[in-house]
Amino acid sequence: MLMSPPAPVASLESLENSGEFIPRHIGPDADDAAKMLAAIGQPSLDALIDKVVPASIARARPMDLPAPVTEAAALAELKTIASKNQVLKSFLGQGYYGTLTPGVILRNVLENPAWYTAYTPYQAEISQGRMEALINFQTMVCDLTGMPIANASMLDEATAAAEAMTLARRSVKSKSHRIVLTGDVHPQTIEVIQTRAKPLALEVLVVNSKEEWEAALAGDFFAALIQYPASSGWIADWKADVEAIHAKHAAAIVATDLLALTLLTPPGEWGADIVVGNSQRFGMPMGAGGPHAAFMACRDEYKRSLPGRLVGVSVDAHGKPAYRLALQTREQHIRREKATSNICTAQVLPAVIASMYAVYHGPQGLSRIAQRVARFTAILSRGLAQLGFGQRHHGTAFDTLCLHTQDATDALVARARSRGVNLRQAWKEYICISLDETSTRADVELIWSIFAKDGAELPSVEAMDEGPTSLIPESLQRSSRYLAHPVFNTHHSETAMLRYIRSLSDKDLALDRSMIPLGSCTMKLNATSEMIPITWPGFADVHPFAPADQLQGYAELDAQLRRWLCQATGYAGISLQPNAGSQGEYAGLLAIKAFHDSKGQSHRNICLIPSSAHGTNPASAHMVGLKVVVTKCDDNGNVDLDDLRAHCEKHSAHLACVMITYPSTHGVFETQVKQLCELVHSHGGRVYVDGANMNALVGLAAPGEFGGDVSHLNLHKTFCIPHGGGGPGVGPVCVVEDLVPFLPGHATAGIAGRVGAVSAAPLGNAAVLPISWMYIRMMGEPGLKLATETAILNANYISARLQPHFPTLYAGEHGHVAHECILDLRQFKDSCGVMAEDVAKRLIDYGFHAPTLSFPVPNTLMVEPTESESLYELDRFIDAMIAIRGEIAAIEAGALPRDDNPLKNAPHTAQALLAADWTHGYSREAAAYPLPALRHTKYWSPVGRVDNVYGDRNLFCSCVPMDGNEG
Ligand SMILES: *Cc1c(COP(=O)(O)O)cnc(C)c1O
Repeated sequence: MLMSPPAPVASLESLENSGEFIPRHIGPDADDAAKMLAAIGQPSLDALIDKVVPASIARARPMDLPAPVTEAAALAELKTIASKNQVLKSFLGQGYYGTLTPGVILRNVLENPAWYTAYTPYQAEISQGRMEALINFQTMVCDLTGMPIANASMLDEATAAAEAMTLARRSVKSKSHRIVLTGDVHPQTIEVIQTRAKPLALEVLVVNSKEEWEAALAGDFFAALIQYPASSGWIADWKADVEAIHAKHAAAIVATDLLALTLLTPPGEWGADIVVGNSQRFGMPMGAGGPHAAFMACRDEYKRSLPGRLVGVSVDAHGKPAYRLALQTREQHIRREKATSNICTAQVLPAVIASMYAVYHGPQGLSRIAQRVARFTAILSRGLAQLGFGQRHHGTAFDTLCLHTQDATDALVARARSRGVNLRQAWKEYICISLDETSTRADVELIWSIFAKDGAELPSVEAMDEGPTSLIPESLQRSSRYLAHPVFNTHHSETAMLRYIRSLSDKDLALDRSMIPLGSCTMKLNATSEMIPITWPGFADVHPFAPADQLQGYAELDAQLRRWLCQATGYAGISLQPNAGSQGEYAGLLAIKAFHDSKGQSHRNICLIPSSAHGTNPASAHMVGLKVVVTKCDDNGNVDLDDLRAHCEKHSAHLACVMITYPSTHGVFETQVKQLCELVHSHGGRVYVDGANMNALVGLAAPGEFGGDVSHLNLHKTFCIPHGGGGPGVGPVCVVEDLVPFLPGHATAGIAGRVGAVSAAPLGNAAVLPISWMYIRMMGEPGLKLATETAILNANYISARLQPHFPTLYAGEHGHVAHECILDLRQFKDSCGVMAEDVAKRLIDYGFHAPTLSFPVPNTLMVEPTESESLYELDRFIDAMIAIRGEIAAIEAGALPRDDNPLKNAPHTAQALLAADWTHGYSREAAAYPLPALRHTKYWSPVGRVDNVYGDRNLFCSCVPMDGNEG
């Protein structure tokens, strides 16, 4: 606090702030840091860091990054980059379409920190708003696909199809290892399926004609994938084929389009077993490929093996309906060695947007949008026929036409481009044209003019509109209703929609209200200036498969970001393609596997993983066909080097890799990490360093320097992409020199690679990359280093101040933690029956999101404050924890019963507190306002504690029959 007026600034240079770093990203200022260091007992930040980070791993030299600039300057620089993307009219289709994001959703969801800074809804009570939006999403997908159950999002359509393949393989009776793909599936989907099938020794048979299809169906296979409507637009009746598939005890997987399904007979009505697709055209810009919410729906029998998250309805402590993540506290499919999928971070924010789009438009509105698209498509088709370009395949279509343009193809595509239009060239001699919500009469006329010979008379829209108004076959026109639930039929005026969105976000706790001290998840500031560029048309409105010369801005963004991240990690090469950390793990392990294969060492298939690892580690290893062997941790939470050595020796000839997390998931810098890497290398194995904890390393140490061979980063943790309520994420895979050739390629986008695509789009969730770019650009080397140091300072401050109340379980050599600390609550189970979960729920009454619960150690809380939290906020949290310790003491002393106390009854709803009879042994004031400051800023939990067991026994995963708003 300033005691006198601000001092005059002497130099013009510092007034101009040229290159000077204003640390707005960082919570504590120098005075606060001094107070915190005193509490920790360290004379300076440097002294603390010296004690925490082992000298053996310290960086050889500082990161070589451009000097930091202000928000305004960084935005201006990025604008120049964005302007190098050319925004042409896209009729490319292939899974990506123009869409109009309603302003009320754009501003109040996509651009609203109440939505984008929220965490995954593991703490059900403070996540009711986003879970209602997600259950709307699930209901929407079920209704439109005609399936009984759908999850709350997948990473993209291609990986969803690949997950459908493995879901089918473990669910059907057929013993075959072959999956049949109809050739007219989106090419990127075929490519990702091929990548995923290979390490699992599944055979992918792509058929390209009716004859090949019939021959394939006559043979052996465990699943068949159909695109409906096909990638090139035609629509067929697959009912008989599905019967043939079922006759072989195989699964019918259908990739589809939600907008088309408002008019088409849904796959669920003709027997599909698994339905996947992308909800992008429900209000999410194309964004060069992502983020978008893909989806997966399946038959009821498969629901317990469905990957991804599933929101279900349960009841709270007062018997009222409440939402929760079903079948899991963590993802139920990530059962470590028995994992069936590694998906963790998904696409929650895009799923919320798609669901809101459906809520806003309602069934009538969606149908109108689809009818308009279908009608323009029919008109366009008729006009093109008049110009001499007939449609391929029996003339069916929803939004996409495929024309046999023969040797005129190249010229037509070029001519289109010269008029600002992108058309898709397919199989050399064909052109596909996809219309969408944004298409207009003028667009139809423009396309005709491209195809018309010079001087030829153009058809007229009116004339071409005479006759049938769509090309959807009569027999496949939808007769069943959809989106009949009140939520899709109520909020159609903008005022109603605005208030619905607000009512949901008001129920939730996100970073815009209080710190979210989640260990391993790094809930740091997502600065507004970092978010602003993502909706710039230069980034948002480009198609991922537009020609490379139109994507120069993205190419530059990609190259710069990769260069900077190489500096941060010490690695030689990076791919930004993976859509989440789990996908980065997968890509990294594929690289290791491919490397061994290239050396004639395909027998190397053992992956050692310490017991404290995140569940995605063994899950990813499993998907790459590696055999996971779990190794021990010692009493200090470190990797037990002796045990690891023994395993390395035992498996020496077959060792593929070791996966470690650094600093460890126990929140300590192990001093022996270098020796560990050397040990693994001496046995011919590679070291995978899970980069989720990079927030403790950036600027101080680099995995690529201390012995790691591969890491993934979580840009949605360390590099400021918001968690969005559980996605989107970006999980770059980073490798040392000799593994660079094994980074994922993307043949569909013309990017060669020895390893195939791992995401639908070549740059994955491209549209959120500007966030991390802005962060690094504004922070520079000094800012990033100070951020890391402050993250460590903040964690050590919390650990030190809470030590007398909740001891920290693990510490490093000198008694300090890294950037997070595990608070040990295990003793309270015996002393008074209080569990870590009770403390987590009681924190809600104090206005906080709980720390990470019971990971990696059961019945503990892992706290990661991040550098962005100020001393004020840290103290608020510490005060809450100390007050809770006092409440625990009262139970221990017998002043409050074990089963009826503020912890067991938490969180307290306003309704429960206002009940006429208050029967508890503590006051209403003590329940609601245990600290005086809460009287000024009180968060009220909308529901009481949610019953997990009830929800799983009575699995119900779509909108509750009456409007579930207040239960
Ligand atoms: C978050 C996390 C992951 C998985 O990352 P996602 O982006 O959620 O897929 C892997 N390992 C650790 C240690 C993590 O904290």
